[in-house]
Amino acid sequence: MMGRLEDLDELLAEMRAFGEAEHVPIINSRGLGVLLQAVEEQRPHRVLEIGTAIGYSALYIASKSAEDVEITSLELSEERAEIAQGYIDRSPFKDKIEIRVGDAGEALTKLSGKYDFVFIDAAKGQYPDYFRKIQEHLTSNAVIVADNVLFRGYVMGTVEAPRRFKTIVKRLREYIDMVSENAGYVTKIYENGDGLAVSKRIAK
Ligand code: SAH
Ligand code: MG
Repeated sequence: MMGRLEDLDELLAEMRAFGEAEHVPIINSRGLGVLLQAVEEQRPHRVLEIGTAIGYSALYIASKSAEDVEITSLELSEERAEIAQGYIDRSPFKDKIEIRVGDAGEALTKLSGKYDFVFIDAAKGQYPDYFRKIQEHLTSNAVIVADNVLFRGYVMGTVEAPRRFKTIVKRLREYIDMVSENAGYVTKIYENGDGLAVSKRIAK
């Protein structure tokens, strides 16, 4: 057991180094703390991840979920999905994580079954669309964690976003409003890392 966990830590460290060297936007350690706390509280059985990158967050989520967890992870880039698969194959969670390559907005229309945990971390301008599309695929106690919701300080701050980020910032504000004002959820926004929204589904 010890050996297995040590191997996973080594693999994750290797992945972090690769991500940093190749400028892959994997979750930073401050954001990871918030994500993993939410996973540990939920101990999910069926996880949907939107935005795999190299599989870093997926492996962390797998390590803190229920023993029988199944993770579906969506990734647009074929190249990144291949790298992710390579890492996942070297992990103890090889048979628990399935990567689906393609546009997440499209993949979300083809889901089946219900998920008790969702990690939103793909195209930042698409978060409201992702939120709408997952509604019919959530268990009644589902938890949704969205990363990067404070996007470099432009979402809540007083500093105006550069032109190229304007749409992203507008959509992230829309996302925060959607989850905060929704009577079906209790949401907490964390400033850790690039900002995370943790939304827990409650009975209306
Ligand atoms: N969750 C990962 C990081 C994801 S980075 C981690 O923390 O380890 C965001 C990823 O979303 C990138 O790999 C990018 O290729 C992917 N992405 C961007 N647009 C997408 C889309 N429309 N559909 C699916 N994936 C997308
Ligand atoms: Mg992120």
